[in-house]
Amino acid sequence: MTARILDGKRVAREIRNEVKERAKPLIARGVVPGLAAVLVGDDPASQLYVRSKTKACEEAGLFSEGVILPSSTSREQLRAKLDELNERNDIDGILLQLPLPERLDSEEFLDRILPEKDVDGFHPVNVGKLVQNRPAPRPCTPAGVMELLRREGVEIKGKRAVVVGRSDIVGKPMAMLLLHEHATVTVCHSRTRDLASVTREADILVAAIGRAAILRRDFLRPGAVVIDVGMNRAETEEQVRDFFGDDPGRLEVFRKNGSTLVGDVHPKDAMEVAAAFTPVPGGVGPLTIAMLLSNTLDLARTRRG
Ligand code: NDP
Repeated sequence: MTARILDGKRVAREIRNEVKERAKPLIARGVVPGLAAVLVGDDPASQLYVRSKTKACEEAGLFSEGVILPSSTSREQLRAKLDELNERNDIDGILLQLPLPERLDSEEFLDRILPEKDVDGFHPVNVGKLVQNRPAPRPCTPAGVMELLRREGVEIKGKRAVVVGRSDIVGKPMAMLLLHEHATVTVCHSRTRDLASVTREADILVAAIGRAAILRRDFLRPGAVVIDVGMNRAETEEQVRDFFGDDPGRLEVFRKNGSTLVGDVHPKDAMEVAAAFTPVPGGVGPLTIAMLLSNTLDLARTRRG
């Protein structure tokens, strides 16, 4: 079997175009949905994430502001900045780029963002609403996975879904969203015994672990739909050949950059065993940003629409 590729890039483009269209009536009334992306520190990868998020907003016609604070920012200064953004009427969604410098407790600051501006859906009020399946912003990555499954016609109701990873950002909300769509859900983590025997039961397998290609052939049920959230790096040519075979494109990327992206699922095995598979890159990643725009628009409509 050769797995069908679930093209996250295409679906993300679709969602972004829809956001652009849905925003037009609001914008025509002078209400431009606005996102503030707050970053503390000078980590280049985080700066790149923030820039790509603000750029995506602009492309969809939304207002965006990248708020880059020095790594020396104090607790009081960060609180004051978030309070200011909470009060501004032109800002509908506030995103706090994680991780924060170690001395700042991310929980304190995520809690400080008003639930009605919590574009990532991390505030405890919105987590509670997610659990109760009430309207609220949903965390962007799992929400993106649900959109992908829906738009690719993957049936969820009654299926066995296994989520590997139990973070607040991906694993737990993912499990909750699948449950609301009537899957029978199992959540696995680093203490799960005989992980392969559990993941092999999955009709829908979602991997959100952060370990390169750890889920190999014997972890996959033939014919499963496999969603790979993980973003890791293959850093030796031996790994690249193991994960991707002799794929010339991958080898070229590796030789150029010294590494290539790989998910948590062994890609060659998944392509041979699964019915459908999300590539890394080009699978779940682009959907996360698309859902960020969609959440910003929804927050603007709720608050100012
Ligand atoms: P975390 O590190 O917060 O969580 C990882 C989870 O995986 C934990 O629950 C951990 O278990 C579990 N885990 C770790 N090792 C194993 C193992 N050997 N077997 C089974 N479970 C294991 O990561 P995130 O949830 O934030 O992210 C997960 C991955 O998804 C990362 O690669 C990240 O880069 C990627 N990601 C991608 C996004 C995208 O847009 N594509 C967005 C967000 C994340 P335990 O709880 O017991 O420690």
